[in-house]
Amino acid sequence: MGDGTTGPTDCIFCEIAARRAPSYIVYEDASTVAFLDLFPFTRGHLLVIPKRHGARLTDIPFNDQMAMVRTLDEVCRRVERLTPDYNVALNAGAKAGQIVFHVHFHVIPRYGEANPFLGPGRARLSDGDARELVGELARG
Ligand code: AMP
Ligand code: ZN
Repeated sequence: MGDGTTGPTDCIFCEIAARRAPSYIVYEDASTVAFLDLFPFTRGHLLVIPKRHGARLTDIPFNDQMAMVRTLDEVCRRVERLTPDYNVALNAGAKAGQIVFHVHFHVIPRYGEANPFLGPGRARLSDGDARELVGELARG
């Protein structure tokens, strides 16, 4: 677990939080990071994580839970530049669809498309699209 802030190095989200792995960060503060999902359901799909590792919301301290919600509010306001409609989701446990076991909220903008959760496989985010989105979402 290291120093308790960066978490296990085999956790990709800890690596992103420590900036040892590449990502498209749109917001960061002392205890949280928000970045673009690499396989977005829709344009602007974001993830909000605590920097401190914990698999589930119930594994992290109250202060980090509150910090996540504060960041969630901030990025939702920014997503509203793209569309007023979005889903916020948290998958806890493999049977609930959790693949990365470092707690995260999904923010998934909705544009009136058919249910994106039932569609075919998601395309990997292109660098061009990511840069454009960072331009729209990274400013406060
Ligand atoms: P979940 O199914 O809730 O665990 O969601 C994990 C999400 O993380 C998925 O939507 C993945 O596309 C996304 N993801 C996995 N690896 C990365 C990465 N290196 N950078 C950005 N998003 C990622
Ligand atoms: Zn982690």
